[in-house]
Amino acid sequence: MTRPVLKLKRVQDINITEGSTVLVRVDYNVPMKDGKVSDDTRIRETEKTVKYLVSKKAKVVLIAHLGRPKGKVDPKYTLKPVTEYVEKIMGTKTYFAEDCIGKAREEALKNLKNGEILLCENLRYHPEEEKNDENFAKELARGCDFFVQDAFGAIHRAHSSTSAVTKHLPSSIGFLLQKELEYLEKIMSASQRPFVAIIGGAKVSDKITVLESLLDRVDVLIIGGAMAYTFLKAQDVNIGKSLVEEDKIEDAKKIILKAFKNNVELLLPADHLVVKEVKEDAKTELTQSMAIPDEWIGVDIGSRTISIFSEKIMSAKTIFWNGPMGIFEMPAFSNGTVELAKAVAKATKNGAVSVLGGGDTLNALKKSGVKPEEVSHCSTGGGASLEFVEGKILPGLEALAE
Ligand code: AMP
Repeated sequence: MTRPVLKLKRVQDINITEGSTVLVRVDYNVPMKDGKVSDDTRIRETEKTVKYLVSKKAKVVLIAHLGRPKGKVDPKYTLKPVTEYVEKIMGTKTYFAEDCIGKAREEALKNLKNGEILLCENLRYHPEEEKNDENFAKELARGCDFFVQDAFGAIHRAHSSTSAVTKHLPSSIGFLLQKELEYLEKIMSASQRPFVAIIGGAKVSDKITVLESLLDRVDVLIIGGAMAYTFLKAQDVNIGKSLVEEDKIEDAKKIILKAFKNNVELLLPADHLVVKEVKEDAKTELTQSMAIPDEWIGVDIGSRTISIFSEKIMSAKTIFWNGPMGIFEMPAFSNGTVELAKAVAKATKNGAVSVLGGGDTLNALKKSGVKPEEVSHCSTGGGASLEFVEGKILPGLEALAE
């Protein structure tokens, strides 16, 4: 699918001056534990945009969602604890508004001084947000002069804060969104070859369209994780009791055929780490071939597969990776994913452009000891990056187009 090029205004191209009130959609859907933020990556990713606005002495109004409160006020999903992290990271006085619209925000905004930040309560406490409601969008825009979109992880949805709001304010994209688009465009144009895509994770059904789309662009497509068993079964290879999506076997066959027609090298695991029961201390075996004996369950790619996949990755000049190679949450089954992360880091050091997407892939990167700066770009939006690579027009970007 060829997507039209959208003309987007950048935050640095608009005339923000001292005292401008700027509404910024950020992705602060951060993991929380016992009322504390357990990973502040998503907050740090917005640092450049927020600090830029603060340096312009604007009043910065941050709007975001957290979890799925389903349109109701639910203290479990309050953004209040995030305030102190924003203040620390941005190095600027940050206040919290008990609601993202209405009186509470209006009052808080009245007291906000130039160069200060106001973080607003969860957008999704209002059912209108996910309905892309016009009036709610108007309320979000009230009292503001500009809108900046920097929530890449949310722009594949047409919500009030990603779509309708752009009708009410001059809108532009922040530095994080600019970086996301720059790297994902590099993946789409894949001007540096060979282009190797690595797709793993649990479900073929979630990734069938991205696989199809990638086959029009890549030289090598590596499929690992539980998804691989559906592809092996499609070729009548025994997969024991491993996870399989019977209703996706026909789709897997079509992908295999398309790879053949497009002259794409499709790599599936050549061996597997298997167990009889999925538990941390289970006795593991390595299979001798791509077949998994009856009664056994595949939990990771095997050592021969690691060598084959790593070698391909290290010869790549463009790399896109989404989804782990095994049940990486359990250290005993994380080796395949960890070793591929190291291979991606080595390829990047040798000049490859590497883009990683999806929360699991990024967690796996952390486990491998590879630092985020050792790959070209870690996308903050798993779903959004997949949809972008599928060639779809993301509603939140379309709304921003001039
Ligand atoms: P996804 O959200 O589709 O990227 O899938 C990520 C999930 O796939 C992780 O929670 C992994 O534990 C799971 N996964 C990867 N490989 C396997 C496997 N061999 N068997 C079961 N689950 C797996």
